[in-house]
Amino acid sequence: MREVILIVEDEKDIVKMLEYNLKKEGFKTLSVRDGEAAIESARGEHPDIIILDLMLPGIDGLEVCKTLKGDSKTASIPIIMLTAKSQESDKVVGLELGADDYVTKPFSPRELIARIKAVLRRGKDKDKLLEVLKVGDLTVDLAKITVTVKSKPIELTAKEFELLKALIKSRGRVLSRDHLLDTIWGFDHAAEIQTRTVDVHIRTLRKKLKDESSRIVTVKNYGYRFEDEE
Ligand code: CA
Repeated sequence: MREVILIVEDEKDIVKMLEYNLKKEGFKTLSVRDGEAAIESARGEHPDIIILDLMLPGIDGLEVCKTLKGDSKTASIPIIMLTAKSQESDKVVGLELGADDYVTKPFSPRELIARIKAVLRRGKDKDKLLEVLKVGDLTVDLAKITVTVKSKPIELTAKEFELLKALIKSRGRVLSRDHLLDTIWGFDHAAEIQTRTVDVHIRTLRKKLKDESSRIVTVKNYGYRFEDEE
């Protein structure tokens, strides 16, 4: 069955380019030009994924994202935001509202298609319990709590391992520093433990991961993402 992609964008040229490239990849596309139509279409058609431009006439993209992620009927539909460079802060708000990923304009169709495939794949194995992750030269066994790089065991502290585990479990998605701090250090962590603590642990973790350190990607002013693409 072909996956249905809902394109929400008011710029005709971008819509045309997306429709052409996505169809070529075997996807079915639906296109709408404004926020109201996007919400209606998402509810009625239940697409497999939504490509959502943030700059729209009428209801803007962030409002659309908030509405869809706040409604149990549409909350599970993944959203990839299209943002402009000048919309850095909107991107962060969008991720906090539950958007799954973003692509900054101008983007290449190849880049967007890779993101779409990654998000769709993640949705498919979301329910599968991940115990051993093998990517590149890195192997992480979440059950045995072991990490190896090029088959050599890596010694991690408990916090470093928990951090790596949290990132792997949400691989491909960006996790905020606050989220990581709350998840790993707990909501009632001591006052002196700040979001900076997360950065410090990420730094030591990266050092230990050696050649695979670039899998932990920094998302400026927000947090971190584990990259599991080869
Ligand atoms: Ca637009």
